[in-house]
Amino acid sequence: MFQAPEPHLTELSFMSRIARAANTALQIETLLPAVASEMYQALAWDHVVIGLLQPTEEPVKVFADTSIQGNRPPEEGRIDPSDLSLLMETVNPQQISVLAVNDPDFDLPQVPDILRDSGLHTIASIPIQHRSHLFGAIFVGSAFPRTIPLNEHHLLTTVGEMVSVAIARILQEEDARQAERLKSAFFAKVTHEMRTPVTSISGYVRLLQSGRAGDVPEYLHEHLNYMFHSSKTLRQLVDDMLDFSRMEAGYLSVDHLTPVDLIPIIHTIAGMVRPQADERRLTLQFNIDPHLPPVQADPRRIEQVLTNLLSNAIKYTDDGAITIHANQLDDTYVRLSVQDNGIGITPEHQALIFGEYQRIRNRHNLRFAGTGLGLAISRKLVELMGGTMSLQSEFGVGSTFSCDLRIATELALGQGITSDNGTGPPEN
Ligand code: ADP
Repeated sequence: MFQAPEPHLTELSFMSRIARAANTALQIETLLPAVASEMYQALAWDHVVIGLLQPTEEPVKVFADTSIQGNRPPEEGRIDPSDLSLLMETVNPQQISVLAVNDPDFDLPQVPDILRDSGLHTIASIPIQHRSHLFGAIFVGSAFPRTIPLNEHHLLTTVGEMVSVAIARILQEEDARQAERLKSAFFAKVTHEMRTPVTSISGYVRLLQSGRAGDVPEYLHEHLNYMFHSSKTLRQLVDDMLDFSRMEAGYLSVDHLTPVDLIPIIHTIAGMVRPQADERRLTLQFNIDPHLPPVQADPRRIEQVLTNLLSNAIKYTDDGAITIHANQLDDTYVRLSVQDNGIGITPEHQALIFGEYQRIRNRHNLRFAGTGLGLAISRKLVELMGGTMSLQSEFGVGSTFSCDLRIATELALGQGITSDNGTGPPEN
């Protein structure tokens, strides 16, 4: 290529192909064959092999070998992969090294044999290294006597540097992905293990409160009440964390979608949160179409979403009312909304709160426990049921969270749906 009429352009185009491969590769297994192939086609070398040092018994692994790709017969000159470990010992981590048959200055006595057996006259090694730590090398071999002119030396050095940086990046990304996988697995395991003791604590507190385990002195009633509320909050946190770890792994699911009458569900959940609303002197209001058509849903998940929206409305409203709306929107959807006249959410925060772990810093959030996972999970659940969740809010005025749920039709009702392809583990 260096004798070509426009060597500069040819070099530039070669470098840009190498740069593209180095910048876009996600795996070493795809990067190195692409680089070797570009070098083999563009440079006047008969053989290109790329090997990386391994922490395993086999010290060098070959990632690219153009003699296989180019169907090159061994007698035309090729580096035998079994010689790579020895050749790797001749690599200088700082710069390109050249071994030639007629060069008597070999540190390793086996090198002349390797050169002779390979049928190559010259082998140059380009180090692949990061912060002086040698990862491996690109070996280029020529069947004929060959020197490396200065501009080619620069070119090969730059290729080595680009490949080195790309490999360091890929390894770092793999480490980060592995750490993320371990974190998720740990998170899922710990949450799962927490669920049993938390359930048992609230069960025993309930038993004591009921008097079935014997009389509890009057002065302990209030303490038991606090214990019950705290264990319920803890249980809610654990359940959210479990749902979230399923969502991360793509296993969050809704059961079989069936026609669901929202009205009794609304009244049940409103009844459950009423004590919290009363405690904060908030009125619960209803604006419900009595002829509401059934929606396609998993009733347990609808209850979960509504509980989340109502608990939030109660948490973030200081005085006034919370209204539950349920009306037919059009031929396809019913809109179920929870409206409050609470603290409201700024447009900038509206964009964030459906994300995981997103809690707005305010005095309410300092007072109430929460993970910032509720809305992320609720929105995903509504989507899994074929609906959408939206928010209208004005800071200082109030918020309305709406779920548009599909009206049940025979066709639309089907199997339980998972956030992945449905092959995930069953929920418990
Ligand atoms: P959590 O309530 O556990 O913090 P959510 O995901 O349910 O988590 O809510 C995320 C954040 O959105 C809350 O921390 C709060 O800052 C904000 N938010 C949710 N609902 C309301 C609401 N009705 N009014 C004002 N802010 C709200």
